[in-house]
Amino acid sequence: MKVGIYPGSFDPVTKGHLDIIERSSKMIDKLIVAVLNNNSKSPLFSVEERVNMLREVTKGIDNVVVDSFSGLTVDYAQRNHANIIVRGLRAVTDFEYELQMAQTNRIMVNSIDTIFLTTSLQYAYLSSSIVKEVAVNNGDVSKFVPEYVVKKIQDKLNIS
Ligand code: ADP
Repeated sequence: MKVGIYPGSFDPVTKGHLDIIERSSKMIDKLIVAVLNNNSKSPLFSVEERVNMLREVTKGIDNVVVDSFSGLTVDYAQRNHANIIVRGLRAVTDFEYELQMAQTNRIMVNSIDTIFLTTSLQYAYLSSSIVKEVAVNNGDVSKFVPEYVVKKIQDKLNIS
C-alpha cells in the first residue's frame, strides 16, 4: 500500500493546495494531509481550524485523511507508515529550499522519498500569505480559496 503525506502550514488551504491534493491522491492509495504545528510562525488560523477547513474541502476524496503533527516530517511519516512525501513546486524560488528539505529528509530516513508536483499554471502565483494579504485589505479572495474558506476568513477578520 502506497501511503503519502502532504505536509504544510495550510494557513489557510488554497485552491493551489487543493489541486496538489486532488492530483497526488490519484497516484497513491492513501494521502495524509498533515498540518504542521510550527511554533516559529504566527498563523492566522489555529491548527484545529486549519485541520477542519482541510477536512471540509477534501471530504469528497475518499483516500484523503487530514491530521496535524509537531516535530520532524520524517518521524511523523514513519509513525504513519508513509514512504512518500508530497510537495508542490510553484516556481524556481521554491526549488532551492524544497531540494534541501528533500535531501535532508532522505539522509535521515532513506526509505522515504519526496515527490514534487508542479503547480497547475493557474495557481502558480498563489500562496496562503498572498491570500491573507488580499483579505486583510478587504480584497475578494474567492478566486484563490474554496468557498467554505472564504467564509472562514471573513469570520476571522470580521468582514463580510
Ligand atoms: P509550508 O509552510 O510547508 O511551505 P504551505 O502551506 O505554504 O506550507 O505549502 C505546503 C506545500 O504546498 C508546499 O510544498 C508548497 O510548495 C505547496 N504549495 C503551496 N501553494 C501552492 C500552489 N499554489 N500550487 C502548488 N503547490 C503549492
